[in-house]
Amino acid sequence: MSDSAKARLKIRLTPAAERAVKGGHPWVYADRIKEESRPGEAGEIAVVYDKNDKFLALALFDPGSPIRVRVLHVGKPITLDDAWWRERMAEAVSRRERIFDPARTTGFRWINGESDGWPGLVLDRYGDTCVLKLYSAVWFPRLGALREWIMASCAPERLVLRLSRNIAESAARDFSLRDGDLLRGEKPEGPVAFLENGLRFEADVLRGQKTGFFLDQRENRIRVGLEAEGKDVLNVFSHAGGFSVHAAAGGARSTVDLDISAHALESAKRNMALNAGHPAVARCRHETIKADAFDWLGAAEWSTNYDLIILDPPSMAMRQGEAEGALRAYEKLAVAGLQRLRPGGLLFAASCSAHVAADDFFNRMRVVAANYPRHVREVATSLHAADHPATFPEANYLKCITLRMSGSGGKIENRKER
Ligand code: SAH
Repeated sequence: MSDSAKARLKIRLTPAAERAVKGGHPWVYADRIKEESRPGEAGEIAVVYDKNDKFLALALFDPGSPIRVRVLHVGKPITLDDAWWRERMAEAVSRRERIFDPARTTGFRWINGESDGWPGLVLDRYGDTCVLKLYSAVWFPRLGALREWIMASCAPERLVLRLSRNIAESAARDFSLRDGDLLRGEKPEGPVAFLENGLRFEADVLRGQKTGFFLDQRENRIRVGLEAEGKDVLNVFSHAGGFSVHAAAGGARSTVDLDISAHALESAKRNMALNAGHPAVARCRHETIKADAFDWLGAAEWSTNYDLIILDPPSMAMRQGEAEGALRAYEKLAVAGLQRLRPGGLLFAASCSAHVAADDFFNRMRVVAANYPRHVREVATSLHAADHPATFPEANYLKCITLRMSGSGGKIENRKER
């Protein structure tokens, strides 16, 4: 890195961006940068000055991304030496110590990007394996040091590097790094094992979506498990069947995992089998359906209804302009879900679209409930798990609402009865 060889990269921001950074927002978009002392390189430390020419912040510079600056520190001037980075990593890691019982949960997020002070970076743990996922090229030049800091704080037996699609090409070209490279230890033969609230799971850390498992839904899966006793469960967009395993362990009579990916459903079968020693899981009937959820739910001939339905679709809005379309898709899914719910049944609907605000999602689901021809009541709302802190609005992507269908069979014609 040329940090020391070249003159410091100094930048100034528009007044609005300056206010946002002072208020703790970790991103500055390219069009909010008023002045740059010289062209910066990916990963360089930029010094941000305020309108009075006073030190404001230190940030990582990323010329290849619309998020041009990722803030590391705001306030008094400091030196970002090795000890500072180590301390910052140890702090993030120690925050998880009191969240989980290590005998019951060994799959969790150790570092959640900006919200833990590590912009554009995620570190997940699955048993003895850690997965470092990079979402920004700012980390490439300091990957060796990053590896050392991780080893010092977490000491995993294996450290896997995963790269988001947008940076994979420059990683290969400029740094000979590939998605799935091992930064420490041997390449695993297959998925790696971990525990979630006492239940056994596998994560495909080399090829799976995200870092191999959807850890963000952990607490919601546990909630579903607590509601599952004696129920017939439909888990739509099941991925590796996490909700179903928790439901089965909670005493569900049957669970159906529905996903478009055969690979995900194979993993769902293995996850159920991994827990066959659990008497409730052994009793629960498990089935998988490979289908497009929108087509399947919308199909006219409905043979079966369920007591508990989970809808956890992938992100449906890639940009702000797609938020309304996503809300309409959530609405369609929720109505289709309610139509397959037995009286007294529960619908658990989730949205992981960062561009759909939590309140907009909740309110749309409340409208669906109010307009439904049976009485539907809101039971609860929830966000992501505690190891996924969100310190700025864009980080708050996951939101879930639980609705309960009235137990009485009759149709409610007069909505005012609610
Ligand atoms: N509920 C899961 C995570 C779901 S992620 C858990 O707790 O781990 C979203 C899933 O939706 C992915 O597995 C993806 O394969 C699946 N998917 C995407 N589009 C789909 C579609 N049209 N129909 C069915 N499944 C789909």
